[in-house]
Amino acid sequence: MSSIKAWLSKPIEGAKVLCQACAHACRLGEGEYGECGVRMVEDGELQLLVYGRVAAANIDPVEKKPLYHFLPRTTTFSIGTVGCNFSCGFCQNHEISQYPRENNGEVVGRELPPEEVVRLALKNGCGSVSYTYNEPVIFFEYTYDCAKLAHEKGLKNIYVTSGYETRKAIDTIAPYLDAMNIDIKSFSEEFYENVCGAKLKPVLECVRYAYSKGIHIEITTLLILGQNDSDEEIREIARFIAGIDRSIPWHLSAFRPMYRMQDILGTPESTLIRAYMIAQEEGLEYVYIGNIGHEDYHSTYCPKCENRVIVRDGIMRDSTVNKLDEEGHCPYCGYTINGVWQ
Ligand code: SF4
Repeated sequence: MSSIKAWLSKPIEGAKVLCQACAHACRLGEGEYGECGVRMVEDGELQLLVYGRVAAANIDPVEKKPLYHFLPRTTTFSIGTVGCNFSCGFCQNHEISQYPRENNGEVVGRELPPEEVVRLALKNGCGSVSYTYNEPVIFFEYTYDCAKLAHEKGLKNIYVTSGYETRKAIDTIAPYLDAMNIDIKSFSEEFYENVCGAKLKPVLECVRYAYSKGIHIEITTLLILGQNDSDEEIREIARFIAGIDRSIPWHLSAFRPMYRMQDILGTPESTLIRAYMIAQEEGLEYVYIGNIGHEDYHSTYCPKCENRVIVRDGIMRDSTVNKLDEEGHCPYCGYTINGVWQ
């Protein structure tokens, strides 16, 4: 079960295989591993080493992904494997995301075939399946099989992603993918290269392309003191999002000292509130601050009449009051709030 052909790939010159899942576009010869550590060439074919092999599985409120405009008050069956195509110094899940890199290519996980993922999601009353904790596109073929089956059973599918999917990956999964929370980790190529081992440009391209396919998009940015929190950089990200659609929700979250970035202080609330104000100046309609307690910054306000239409009280967002109807209309003025509400 745990290794199958990674079919999102093609043979290229020099007896190599091109992986078509993410923007790293690894060109691999026999026995070579991709950057992510979970795709490797064996007998001339690219193999996915973590198919049906999860390193983490949990039932989470969908608000925790975070998705605030997507089936509020529902739970989502969340899975992830080991490995990642990024190597962020601040990764919250580095024990699993960097596991193959830090253990000589070893992969671990417990068997959970797609049928089991869907069965457990249904049994536990979840509204969706989330591919999260590490980067989903690296275990693309597993997500594809799960997502297809989940749709057949009436469940929705969510990618929580760093936004490195190729157009081909998005085109292939789009019929089954309902929502994506995409990180924009910074607006600087230097930051992406030095801190994440990746590039900014493909991420921006992925956000634009996924949006153009009609997938529900929300964006997350973790603000890190002195790294990506200048007014200019926050404004650039806000302008980029607004340039696509002002109604795309943007989640600002606080960094806590972690992994290879233990020497940087946690993000103060004042930085998050400053970023919130800048995002509002740039015209974003739905801006949220994560991991601080004040419900004003977790709640959704109607852009037209400014009334509070979804109240989220508490860090876990498990006491959400949704005043919208099933089509997402504001109960006060009838304006349609962007999102997937049923
Ligand atoms: S998914 Fe892995 S193997 Fe494929 S291009 Fe990305 S890093 Fe390389």
